[in-house]
Amino acid sequence: MLLFDIVFNGNDTMYAEACEAVDAAIAKYGEEKAIGFPDTAYTLAAYYAETGDKITNLKEAKAGLEHIKTMMTRERRLDSGFKSGVATALSAEILEATKYIEGDPYEGYSEGAMTDAQIRELGVPLVTGDIPGIAVIIHAAPTVQEAVDLVKSYQSQGNFVCLVGDIIDQLKEANYKMGFNVRVYPIGKDIACAAHAVSVAARTAMIFGNITPGDKKSLQEYTFNRFRAFVNAFGPLDEKTVACGAGAIYYGFPVITNDMEYTPSVPKSLIKLADVSKWNTASLEARDIKIKITNIDIPVSFATAFEGEIIRRGDMQVEFDGSRIDSVELVQTKEPSEIEDHKIEVIGPELDEFEVGSKNGIAYVVEVAGKKMQSDFESVFERKFHSWLNCIEGVMHTGQRDMIRIRVSKEAFEAGFRAKHFGEVLYAKIKNEFDAVVDKCQVKVYTDQAMASKIRHEIAVPTFDKRDERLGSLTDESVDVYYTCILCQAFSPSHVCVVTPERLGLCGAVSWLDAKATNELEPAGACQIITKEGVIDERLGAYESVNEAVRKYSQGALERVTLYSIMEDPMTSCGCFECICGIEPFSNGVCIANREYAGMTPLGMTFPELASMTGGGVQTPGFMGHGKHFIASKKFMAAEGGIERIVWMPKELKETVAERLNATAKELYGIDNFTDMIGDETIAEDPETLFAFLSEKGHPALGLDPMM
Ligand code: SF4
Ligand code: ZN
Repeated sequence: MLLFDIVFNGNDTMYAEACEAVDAAIAKYGEEKAIGFPDTAYTLAAYYAETGDKITNLKEAKAGLEHIKTMMTRERRLDSGFKSGVATALSAEILEATKYIEGDPYEGYSEGAMTDAQIRELGVPLVTGDIPGIAVIIHAAPTVQEAVDLVKSYQSQGNFVCLVGDIIDQLKEANYKMGFNVRVYPIGKDIACAAHAVSVAARTAMIFGNITPGDKKSLQEYTFNRFRAFVNAFGPLDEKTVACGAGAIYYGFPVITNDMEYTPSVPKSLIKLADVSKWNTASLEARDIKIKITNIDIPVSFATAFEGEIIRRGDMQVEFDGSRIDSVELVQTKEPSEIEDHKIEVIGPELDEFEVGSKNGIAYVVEVAGKKMQSDFESVFERKFHSWLNCIEGVMHTGQRDMIRIRVSKEAFEAGFRAKHFGEVLYAKIKNEFDAVVDKCQVKVYTDQAMASKIRHEIAVPTFDKRDERLGSLTDESVDVYYTCILCQAFSPSHVCVVTPERLGLCGAVSWLDAKATNELEPAGACQIITKEGVIDERLGAYESVNEAVRKYSQGALERVTLYSIMEDPMTSCGCFECICGIEPFSNGVCIANREYAGMTPLGMTFPELASMTGGGVQTPGFMGHGKHFIASKKFMAAEGGIERIVWMPKELKETVAERLNATAKELYGIDNFTDMIGDETIAEDPETLFAFLSEKGHPALGLDPMM
């Protein structure tokens, strides 16, 4: 049989299954019954992105299937084959949606559809290349070991792995840790689940790329050029899988298979390779994915994929807990003569000498020297420790400074992981990422309790105090330069963040000091200097030089932005913002929701729905993505009255920012415990209840001028 026929047959089968499922559901629930996937504002995203139409109920699903039928032309031409591939994916998506009518069909087995919040979380690592690629692995490998080896090979390079089919059972059999947090994401057993992977690509295009739903050509261009996915499909391949594969290739995702039967092999698109151990290299090559290699001499894996790994109490060999026993992490600038490069010292007992499951203290001091080193960079390096140490397989790190907690798993310990390896990791990463300013580096790891205490109290705390003082004195007025950040242009081609001391990048990961360091490290990189010149309006934070910079770095897509307004030329959003605020006309204020918040806001929208109002590097007055830290800034929508406008936040977010926000409110307006006046989901989820609460509390927003 010809490949065309196989694709057409597979498409027909998937289509028929979708029709049958929709008809059965209509018979059972009626056509008005709502369908969709959890926590997404994009309904059936693959269908929406492709056609511009939202499917929200069974009636629309039925109409959708009629539309899909028109794509199923049966000419023996490449174009027709691809269209059928897409039609297969869209049919599969509708089929999947019917499975969700009665709740999560995969509960307890796999993860199913991804939420918008999860996709947004992938934004930053995708743009920075921390997630170099997205592997979609389908069906069972020849052996469990081959399944494990293949998944591990991608995971240890930081790739995000999606699993469809029996490979999930193989990994379960091997007790392999799976989950969004370790970037091994089991979607589900049926091949129709591949639609959820297509949905991720489609939503990435809409969220970050500002692709207009229905603009097929731009969608395909976007997935082709920017979404670095590829498919690994284990044979024997059935017709439905081959048809899905045609869809994948259409979107630019090469397919690698060990099913040698189907002809032909097409370079960069369809690759037949019997030896599964070569798939990793072949896939990355076909998709032009480059892996950043950091050689670190440790006995366990080191990859960003392990960043979210959780180590439970029962699985831990030893714990260091700064909240109970003095612990600290610190970077110190030294004279070159004081440092012997790559010297790693453990001062005190090694991990073997600690009791299993015990709580201890630890201090590690990274000493650096370099002609271009500045003391301002110390905290920038230090903030990275959290993510670096978490990348070690079997190590969990939380907190920062002297409030750290580290767990080392029994598995890592048994593999030979010891305290000195903390030093190895810190050394290798500092030299790797900051080589432009660090010439020499050595690490001291204190496991001796008395020494760790001494380091904390006599050296670290005074250093932190001095730094905080400096940080507190850094205001937008006190500096001469701001910075751009255009890292997210990899996904959001016209987005530019302007980073100032009092307004960090909307992803929450780039402060003014970070931007400064990045500029120093990579003068031609993402962070460019904006010299503060040509004041247009100080209240709005409008400057000629800022406008010039955004014009230049957005390639003309943006004319001007203001630093302090959400109504007049607000800054754009890429999609990976930690929070979004939107105006609440009833109470004259703004509601803020953070990515983790799953509930409803008084704006009548959830975070995903709010977030879908902005993104893709366009300006949307009234809605603005921002970092959590920005909420307590004196510059938070300062042009519209500042933090006094904040009327609602999820409780958890409110608690996170309370201390700083209350301090700002006290300083600016003399208000005590401002957060007590701000609503949350336990108080109100609709504007009327919120208004009553705000009136009772005498919230200042009620007395301000209307924003619109
Ligand atoms: Fe992206 Fe802005 Fe964060 Fe830079 S600062 S990584 S452009 S969100
Ligand atoms: Zn971004």
